[in-house]
Amino acid sequence: MAQIMDGKALSNKILNDIKEKTRLLKTKPGLCVILVGNNPASQIYVKNKEKQAQNAGFNSTVYKLSENTGKDELLNLINSLNNDDAADGILLQLPLPKHLNPYDFLDKIDPKKDVDGFHPINAGKLMLNENPYSIPCTPKGILALLDEYKIRIEGANAVVLGRSNIVGKPLAQLLLNKNATVTMAHSKTKNLSEITKQADILISATGCPDIITKDMVKEGAVVIDVGIIRDDNGKLRGDVDFNNVKEIAGFITPVPGGVGPMTIASLIQNTYNLHIFKE
Ligand code: NAD
Repeated sequence: MAQIMDGKALSNKILNDIKEKTRLLKTKPGLCVILVGNNPASQIYVKNKEKQAQNAGFNSTVYKLSENTGKDELLNLINSLNNDDAADGILLQLPLPKHLNPYDFLDKIDPKKDVDGFHPINAGKLMLNENPYSIPCTPKGILALLDEYKIRIEGANAVVLGRSNIVGKPLAQLLLNKNATVTMAHSKTKNLSEITKQADILISATGCPDIITKDMVKEGAVVIDVGIIRDDNGKLRGDVDFNNVKEIAGFITPVPGGVGPMTIASLIQNTYNLHIFKE
């Protein structure tokens, strides 16, 4: 039976540590979140980010812009936050409404304030293994979880399912930087279970419920479930058939209570680090 990797507990530990360190600072870290439109999931995520930033003792500001915000208005806001000394971290909540292309904006955020690590300079630094100003929050949180449970990455076969710019790609790069042998799989991958069965560390980030079943997992593997899917009853679930896979895996993350809380803890850490870097 797998050991459960408790993301909630580790996240609380990280958040308490940052809160303590923040109490000793002369000026408080400032997190600015920009929310455009009315996406219900985004509204919940932003509220949670604001709450955790406030709990940590940060100054937290949410800029709520209407669904039909124009390109210039959003660029002006980003520009003014780039020039605002109190804004250490700027986060543009995704997805944006359809008429706005996120890549018209993400590269306008000052890379030294890019708390999500999505700016091309930070993505490039990650690729070069050259200290990005921020590392994307979900991959960073997953690495912290692997570290907490003393999972050996060097030399491990790591399979990452999903190739998004916010999770799959940066995660694969981070694992490669730590000397794992990394395979990326995605919606066009053939013979998926043959690949996943090779994994010492299997990370699924697709948003497809139960895509990872017991027969796809090697005995003793570490299984990390990034997926967040709300079922018809409003209950959260992940990519992994948790109840069956836990019988064969060595370690496994639950949904909720696994990767999700680690993402928020990483955001708070990133904001703190950007503030300290500036001082
Ligand atoms: P995405 O939604 O942009 O893309 C999904 C990826 O999964 C694509 O790369 C696609 O190729 C792959 N995929 C889709 N169907 C597949 C299939 N049948 N077989 C193999 N691969 C397949 O990805 P995302 O934004 O990284 O989100 C993925 C999931 O992770 C979502 O459920 C999202 O809600 C969740 N998520 C969770 C957190 C967290 O903090 N826990 C953070 C970010 C995203």
